[in-house]
Amino acid sequence: MLTRLPANIEAVNRQIERFSGLRFQWPAFPIALEERFERDTAERRSRRLWLEGLIAIALFDLFLVADYFSSPQDFRRALIVRLLVVTPVCLIVNASMLQKPGKTVREASIAFASCLAGAAQLYLEANKSAAASAYVQMAVLAVVLFTNIVMRLRFPYAVATSIAMLAGDWVFLRVDHTLTSQEEILGMALAIATTAITLVANYSAGREERLNYLLNLRDELMVEDLNRLNAQLLRRSESDALTGLANRHSFDSQYAELWKRAVTSGTALSAIVVDVDHFKMLNDRYGHLYGDEVLRRIGSLLQQALRAKDDFAARFGGEEFVVLLPGTHLLAAAQVAARVCKMVELAGFPALDSSQKPYDSSTVATVSCGVATAYPTMRDRADDLLEAADRAMYQAKANGRNCVACADVKEIVRVAGY
Ligand code: GH3
Ligand code: MG
Ligand code: MG
Repeated sequence: MLTRLPANIEAVNRQIERFSGLRFQWPAFPIALEERFERDTAERRSRRLWLEGLIAIALFDLFLVADYFSSPQDFRRALIVRLLVVTPVCLIVNASMLQKPGKTVREASIAFASCLAGAAQLYLEANKSAAASAYVQMAVLAVVLFTNIVMRLRFPYAVATSIAMLAGDWVFLRVDHTLTSQEEILGMALAIATTAITLVANYSAGREERLNYLLNLRDELMVEDLNRLNAQLLRRSESDALTGLANRHSFDSQYAELWKRAVTSGTALSAIVVDVDHFKMLNDRYGHLYGDEVLRRIGSLLQQALRAKDDFAARFGGEEFVVLLPGTHLLAAAQVAARVCKMVELAGFPALDSSQKPYDSSTVATVSCGVATAYPTMRDRADDLLEAADRAMYQAKANGRNCVACADVKEIVRVAGY
C-alpha cells in the first residue's frame, strides 16, 4: 500500500519520461520522491532480503560438504571460518532485516555480508592447488551473482560490492602461488567480465522496478485526483451557490432521511420555515446584488444558530430557508427560531456603498419564522410537517413579521397522525 507523501502527477510524469528513455539514468529520484519510494518499498524489500539471505547462508554452509571431500586436512579451518565466523555475522545481518532498518544500513550491511562471504571463500582456497584457485573464482562469482542479481542490491551498493570483490580477487591472485600468471590474467578477466554483466542486469532490474513504481504511483495519484474532483462536484451539486447552505435538492434527500429516522426511532422532528421580511422592498431600494449579500449573511447566521450535530439548514428557494431539528420538540424548536430572528435583527444591514440610497428604517432586514413539530409514524405524510411550518410562517407574517409562530396544537396532533 502506498503511503501518502507529497508528490504531484507532473513530477511523476517527468520521472516516467526520464526512466522510459534509452539513455543511461542514474537510478535515483529527486529527494522527496526518493524518500517516498523508499518508504513505500522498504518493508517488502527487507522481508525479501531476509528470505534470500537465509538461502544464501544455507548455500554458503553447504560448501562444507565440498570442503570435506576436497581437502579433509583443512576441514577444521573451514568449519571454524564458515560456522563460527561468517555464518553468525550473516545471521545477525539477516535478522536485522526484520527490524526495518534504514536504506543505508540495509544495503550496506548486505554488501558487507556478501564481501565477507566472498573473502572467506578466497581465504579457504588460497594456495591449496591450481584447481582450487581456479574453482574459487567461480565461487566468488556466485556470490557476486547472488548479490547483484538475486538480492538486487541497490545499484550504487552493487557497484561498491562488485569493486570490493574484484579487488579481493585481485589480491588473492597476487598472493596465490598455484596459478601461472597467464591463468591469473584469465581468472581476473573472467571475474571482471562476469561482474560487469551482473551489474548491467542489476541496473536494468533497478530501473524497471523504479519505472513500475512510478506508473503505479501515477495511477494512484490520478485516482486520488478523480476522487477529490468527484467529492468537489458532489459538494457543489448539493450546495446553494449564493449562501453555501444545502440546496433544495440536497434538502429533499436529507428531509426524507430524517423523516425515516424519526419514524423508526419514534422521536420528534421539527421544521422551521424562515422567510425574509419585505425582501422585495429591500431589493428595490438597494439593488438585487445587495439583496444577495443580505441572503448570504442570513444563510451564515442560520448556520451559526444551529447547535446540535444533526441540525440541518438549507435554502428552500428565493428568500426562504428551512431548518430541520431532529429529536427536538416544539418549544425547543421555537427557541431556535427566536434565536434566528434575534440574530438577524442584531446583525443589521451589510454596509452600503456610496452609490446606494441611505438606510431606511422601514426596510430593515428581518425574518419571520414558522415552526412545526411532528412525531411521525408510517401512516403520516412527510409534506404535512413542512406545510404546517409554512402556514405558521405566514401566521408570523400576519402577526407583524420579525417574530416566530408555531403550528397550533391541533395541527401538530394532525401531523403526528394521532
Ligand atoms: P414578505 O415579507 O411578505 O415575505 O415580503 P417579501 O417582499 O419578502 O416577499 P415577496 O414574495 O413579495 O418577494 C420576495 C422577493 O425575493 C422577490 C424576489 O425578487 C426576491 N428574491 C428571490 N430570490 C432572490 C435572490 O436570489 N436574490 C435576491 N436579491 N432577491 C431574490
Ligand atoms: Mg419574504
Ligand atoms: Mg417568500
